Amino acid sequence: MISSLQRLLEQLLDLIYPERCAVCGTTGSLFCAACCSRLTPYPPEAAPMGLEAMLVAWLYGDEVRQAIHALKYQRRRRMALLLADALADDWSPPPGDALIPVPLHPDRLAERGFNQAEELARRLSQRWRIPLCRQGLIRERDTGHQARLGRRARQSNVAGAFFWSDHRPPPERVLLVDDVLTTGATLVACADALRRAGTHEVRAVALARSRAPNRRAQRTMSVLQ
Ligand SMILES: [Zn+2]
Repeated sequence: MISSLQRLLEQLLDLIYPERCAVCGTTGSLFCAACCSRLTPYPPEAAPMGLEAMLVAWLYGDEVRQAIHALKYQRRRRMALLLADALADDWSPPPGDALIPVPLHPDRLAERGFNQAEELARRLSQRWRIPLCRQGLIRERDTGHQARLGRRARQSNVAGAFFWSDHRPPPERVLLVDDVLTTGATLVACADALRRAGTHEVRAVALARSRAPNRRAQRTMSVLQ
């Protein structure tokens, strides 16, 4: 009796508040299958200096941009789960002993209530069966919004912003997780902090890269082939 009442209540709630796709508004799912199918794989690209390798899943198209916007700014936390699932459906894990999310500064964490990179890393940890290491790496300086800074300015802005705070050394092979990368300066700064504390290999996993792929590198590759 209680369970049938519960089901009825859930159906009523679904009718009143049907879940809508954060991208196209279709009823049924927070990130619908049609929008998910329009995600465009990111072409393989050399990792920035300081990283062994980098897995960027998709080009920063409308679907990814709006989905990440819903996650970060509308605080639709469950979106992290759907995006991490979409990534894990298509990609096998790079080699690593632990997943470490790029940390937020404590002020930003208090503002948003959660770290989107940690939400992604938690789900990837379940899917890939790689331990999640969410303590140790700390962002001690608030680097503010990097969006309007050029490559050089980004590098000096985040250099030294991170450190390893645990008395135990960090894992030997780390997979850093972030939502979007641009120049990769933040990931490189995290990798520096980890290496200083004893990590040997650092690879990175991100949903998307918010600029066009490096054309010059692609041209060089096609000349070499
Ligand atoms: Zn949709």
